[in-house]
Order: sequence, then C-alpha cells, then structure tokens
Amino acid sequence: MRCDLCTGAYRYKSIDHVYRRNGELVVVEGVPALVCDRCGDTLLSGETTSYIQELLKREAKDAAPLYKFPLDKREDPFIQALLEDDMEDTSRG
Ligand SMILES: [Zn+2]
Repeated sequence: MRCDLCTGAYRYKSIDHVYRRNGELVVVEGVPALVCDRCGDTLLSGETTSYIQELLKREAKDAAPLYKFPLDKREDPFIQALLEDDMEDTSRG
C-alpha cells in the first residue's frame, strides 16, 4: 500500500503512541501501526483505536502514564489485509 501524501510505502511497526488527555501526555507502548517509510504518516485500524480508548479509561500503572498494548492484540486484521494488498502489488509490478 502506497502513502497518499508522498507515495512512500507503509511498513508494519509497533510504535509508542502519544496522546494528550486532560492536558496531560499519555503514552501507549507497542501499538500496531503502519508507518510510511518516507514521511512517517501513521495508520491505525479502527479496532486498535477503540482498544486504546478502552485502555485509557483504566488507571495507568506508572507515575508517568504509560500503557502497554498487549502482544496478543498486535495481530491486526486491518494491517494484515493492507500488507497482503502490498504483496499483490509487487507481484504485479
Ligand atoms: Zn508518506
């Protein structure tokens, strides 16, 4: 899958996603995402986004609010589907 912004290619990465909640920075570690290898544009699936919203309703365990995205949630069908599209693209071209 190509980036709309710069035509770079999206690659799977687990990222540290930073949010602002009530003016306070909150970090979620290990979020499954597709990141453009050129401009760094980041895509998250709807499922991942709603999972993070649920996660943020809970109390963070560290002094600095830090959440870890669980490993077993990183098999993201949205990302798998996009990566499969990518493979089809390369076999064609
Ligand atoms: Zn890009």
